[in-house]
Amino acid sequence: MARQPQLYFDNNATAPLRPEAIAAMQAMMGPPANPSSVHGYGRAARMAVEQARADVAMLAGCRSADIVFASGGTEANNLALSVFDHVITSAVEHDSVRRAASDATVIGVDSNGLIDLSHLGQVLGDLPDDRRQRTLVSVMYANNETGVIQPIDEVVRLARDAGVAVHSDMVQMLGKQHLDFAASGLDYASLSAHKIGGPTGVGALLVRPGLRMTSLLSGGGQEQGRRSGTENVLGIVGFGAAAKAAFDDVAHFHAMAAWRDRLEMRLIKGRNDVRLFGAGVSRIGNTSCLALNEKSAETLVMAFDLAGAAISAGSACSSGKVHESHVLKAMNAGEDASRAIRISGGWNTRESDFERLAELVLGL
Ligand code: PLP
Repeated sequence: MARQPQLYFDNNATAPLRPEAIAAMQAMMGPPANPSSVHGYGRAARMAVEQARADVAMLAGCRSADIVFASGGTEANNLALSVFDHVITSAVEHDSVRRAASDATVIGVDSNGLIDLSHLGQVLGDLPDDRRQRTLVSVMYANNETGVIQPIDEVVRLARDAGVAVHSDMVQMLGKQHLDFAASGLDYASLSAHKIGGPTGVGALLVRPGLRMTSLLSGGGQEQGRRSGTENVLGIVGFGAAAKAAFDDVAHFHAMAAWRDRLEMRLIKGRNDVRLFGAGVSRIGNTSCLALNEKSAETLVMAFDLAGAAISAGSACSSGKVHESHVLKAMNAGEDASRAIRISGGWNTRESDFERLAELVLGL
């Protein structure tokens, strides 16, 4: 008997490529495409890159000129942090922020994963004047493990009042709602293509006009001297096409919140061992982070896989090994910090997929 089609619920790790991204990249494959070349091939490549820039700008609510294309969210986070000597950040950031900060002041979160704003305000208030210019506040918009949305407006207000620059890792937020970087008061933000149905290995740093930038790479001065290296034209074109499709698809993620909530309700009613994380506060609609029982996350991920569903451990690292989640630990999850699993829907996840997943979990 043919194996049942896989239910794919690991979109926060990576989403399948959108057909629009595949088509756009296929159309670019073949001809030489260096956007810096002045001949016709080069000009065509430049036009494709600039169209993609406009499409990403539309989704992120920024100007095209604010976008510095890079190799992904990791590089974008590293780029932003490299401009500053000191970073004030939260305890639940992605490793590409946590590990890029050599001098970091870490602000704790509550049991729902929300940053402690009064501590942030206090740390900012205590900063000596000569450190303000060299300090960056970096707080992610939505968490990759729990989906919890941080009070970014408040974070921006506190940073601005203190005269300190502010960055947000928007990787998991992009495509979940129409963003408005230009009006947000943020100075920098990071994006990644593969979380919205674009290819891996491409992303962008948004930089507010006139702000300082350093380039991590020395070379030909592409991206207006902000990121050297011949542009990843195929990747950028795929990113642009995915962004354009995602712009028209935001309502899908709003609807998904109700499907996700119903899944969680069914699980709570049907089992007595479900513990949800971050469910009491605002979350992106596609994500559910939960512990099910005494079983380890590794065992659960394998059990789901055998049953035909791809999910992930809340705390899986790049090697696929499960370790204690720093996010859940910061949320005081106790033993469950190494037991939690993450379910994350994407652009092609339907309501019936959530229903099938519920059946599957209830039958485990
Ligand atoms: N930031 C967050 C919140 C993420 O979830 C990820 C990817 O998992 C990244 C940054 C890194 O993005 P990329 O894989 O494009 O380097």
